[in-house]
Amino acid sequence: MLVSTAVLVLGVAAAGGPADTPADLVLTGGRVWTAETEQPWAEAIAIRDGRIVYVGDAAGAARYRGPKTQAVALGGRLVVPGLDDAHIHLMSGALSLERVDLIEDGTVAAVQARIRAFAAAHPGSPWVLGRGWLYGSFPGGLPTKQQLDAAVADRPAYMECYDGHSGWANSKALALAGITKDTKDPVGGAIVRDPATGEPTGALKEAATSLVESKIPLPGAEERCQLLLRALRLLNSQGVTSVQDAGYTPAQLDADLPLMERALREGQLTVRTTVSVQMSPGDVDAPVARATALAKVHRGPLLRFGAVKGYVDGVIEAHTAAMLEPYSDDPAQGAGKPNWEPSALDAAVTAADRAGLQVYLHAIGDRGVRMALDAHEAALRANGRGDRRGRIEHIETISPADYPRFKALGVIASMQPLHANPDQNNADVWSRNIGPERASRGFSWRNIEKAGGRLVFGSDWPVVTSDVMRGLYCAVARKTKEGTPPGGWLPELAVSLESALRHYTIDAAYASFEEAEKGSLAAGKRADLVVLSEDLFRQPPDAILKAKVLLTVMDGRAVYHDPSLPMP
Ligand SMILES: [Zn+2]
Repeated sequence: MLVSTAVLVLGVAAAGGPADTPADLVLTGGRVWTAETEQPWAEAIAIRDGRIVYVGDAAGAARYRGPKTQAVALGGRLVVPGLDDAHIHLMSGALSLERVDLIEDGTVAAVQARIRAFAAAHPGSPWVLGRGWLYGSFPGGLPTKQQLDAAVADRPAYMECYDGHSGWANSKALALAGITKDTKDPVGGAIVRDPATGEPTGALKEAATSLVESKIPLPGAEERCQLLLRALRLLNSQGVTSVQDAGYTPAQLDADLPLMERALREGQLTVRTTVSVQMSPGDVDAPVARATALAKVHRGPLLRFGAVKGYVDGVIEAHTAAMLEPYSDDPAQGAGKPNWEPSALDAAVTAADRAGLQVYLHAIGDRGVRMALDAHEAALRANGRGDRRGRIEHIETISPADYPRFKALGVIASMQPLHANPDQNNADVWSRNIGPERASRGFSWRNIEKAGGRLVFGSDWPVVTSDVMRGLYCAVARKTKEGTPPGGWLPELAVSLESALRHYTIDAAYASFEEAEKGSLAAGKRADLVVLSEDLFRQPPDAILKAKVLLTVMDGRAVYHDPSLPMP
């Protein structure tokens, strides 16, 4: 229906005669990749009142130029639809902007240097906070308080591991949290101790992290609002015009929804945001009711609710992902226990689905993925086939028997290319824990595609960077940004550039029920687009890492502009 409307509009416009109303903005002389099957390429776009009114050749676009039309000459540059990050944690990402980011640092010295520099640049912060350290950076696999004291001694300092499952405190932070050698381990957590003295080493595992985290002051509402606006600007500078937020607890909503509503009211919500509400075992009815009520208030196009999210399992690195067979490195770990009883998960998904909500399920291990598929299937059987678009988030490894079920059940595979970044952590911990056979199905994007499943791509920011170009590169090359390993890791599971871009645009729009409004460049759609410095389609994959965003347009308005692209 949509395609035929777009073709009709284009056909009328191209049929001759001056266009009746001039456009606000005309972009010409570009290589425009539209994400439309019927007309994948064009050279010009005209935009009026926030909508695309024309996509086609330069002559056609010229007829939309009036005296007040802003005209941008693209000089052959690539234009793609506005990028849609289908799995993000927007407020966590916003808070991470005031924290030191350690994800790129491979050695203790490099980690300490970055923390030291950050502390020096933030002399007024009562705490020095950071995230992103990797187990492999530290001898023995865990950091110590002495290593952190060497970087920050005057204030409490706390650094979260990249996976969120471990923490690293300095001596001042341990003292503030009252952690001594006499402190008992909390349920579900461990205070790592020196085997000789029993003194806490500074490393904290799982639930023990909250002993320190609960002492960290949350910035005030005004500061968090400013951080949210910074996050939106950062995303715009990366070409992102839409995000799908993977789960707020009801308490987080109480704190953060007013900030999003304020940004919306003040016209500063420059990234379209879809938000899901977290449900958990024993706590299903209230989140379902909350998401249902919010979906009536916020129905887009800038802020929308209508989904719930549940965590079926944990992560492979911590042996908490649910596997069909025991872990390979340490059989004593068993196969990982799912967070839900299968029958409770089926009932929760069915109830949310009956309430008209979309359901996101975090599932990482092959058993977790199967349970998630089973739960979506249970909802379908109970409630009948409808347009439900159930989703599974992450899918780090999968049984081959489950590939065809995504298509059969209409379940969306929501995956994050940079989680497959073949760095040391991936090789040393992730692959070791599940062994070579299961690791060979790691992040099986191409296999799910080949089985007819619909994929959407996202970042999981702040777990990894929100920079879509980094994700896009990993999606097509399966290499680190340093280009390793040379042939790529499991290159047969990579996807084509065009597929990857579809997963970040039109497919992602489908995942939030908005494909009729956005996600491709066609007459009638919302004018969300990005101009890139490199033509990714005509250069080798390395060009993706060099590509700069030159212009981001959302609703026809430039929300980011690099001065190297002249704009009148
Ligand atoms: Zn996530």
